[in-house]
Amino acid sequence: MTFSDCPYCVDGNMPAGIHDILGPVFVPCVVCGRACPTCTGDGIFPADFDCLDCFRACLTAIGLTPVHCTACLGVLDLLPTPRRPEVTPHEHLN
Ligand SMILES: [Zn+2]
Ligand SMILES: [Zn+2]
Repeated sequence: MTFSDCPYCVDGNMPAGIHDILGPVFVPCVVCGRACPTCTGDGIFPADFDCLDCFRACLTAIGLTPVHCTACLGVLDLLPTPRRPEVTPHEHLN
């Protein structure tokens, strides 16, 4: 079976609904057997981003850091970006 024959996906990508933060996402089609062996297909791919750098920059802007599968680069989790401790200016007495 080739990707174009598979009724569940487009080119091996299966739409996986709308993620709260990532928007439309897809996963590798399990029917075609393209699921990643490292994350067993748990990684999701945001459909709106072609570029990983843009994607990460966009998440950083809203205070999140994506956790990627090392093999397929699918997103496994989103973690809050650690913020730098705030510097509170204060008066020096001397
Ligand atoms: Zn498929
Ligand atoms: Zn993976």
